[in-house]
Amino acid sequence: MEFLNIINVKYLKKRTDITVFVDKKYLTTHNFRDFSETILARLPGIKLHHCKNNLNIPVEEELKNTETAHALEHILIEVIFQADPNAERLAGVTAWNWHRQPTGTYLVSLRYTNRDFLEPALEESLNILNNSIQEYPALDVAPAFSLLNN
Ligand SMILES: [Zn+2]
Repeated sequence: MEFLNIINVKYLKKRTDITVFVDKKYLTTHNFRDFSETILARLPGIKLHHCKNNLNIPVEEELKNTETAHALEHILIEVIFQADPNAERLAGVTAWNWHRQPTGTYLVSLRYTNRDFLEPALEESLNILNNSIQEYPALDVAPAFSLLNN
């Protein structure tokens, strides 16, 4: 995928750390048309996720304007939850530190370690994300400018 790349997947004892790099044009879901609605139509179970965010808003609101990597975290959790009948207490966190890593680098860390489910789920999640992104048409500012010049 050109706008989001998986840099590394590290399976640890109790969690899996996924390093993601997002192109700077696609850092937040705010730039995508009807993103939250599209994702929730495909994966309605996400509505039930508890999402700790700064504004304390429900996940469907949060998805309208959040880090694209954070959206991937929720998609991935939901896809794993649906695929793995033994998945329990799935949880995740998305973090970044752009003083230490290039801008656009995120660490999506999941409390889940079953590679057999995680690998296909990651691929499916990237497809869902990719197919859910609709960009806004470029604004045509020329008419406004010509008005200003008159
Ligand atoms: Zn969240």
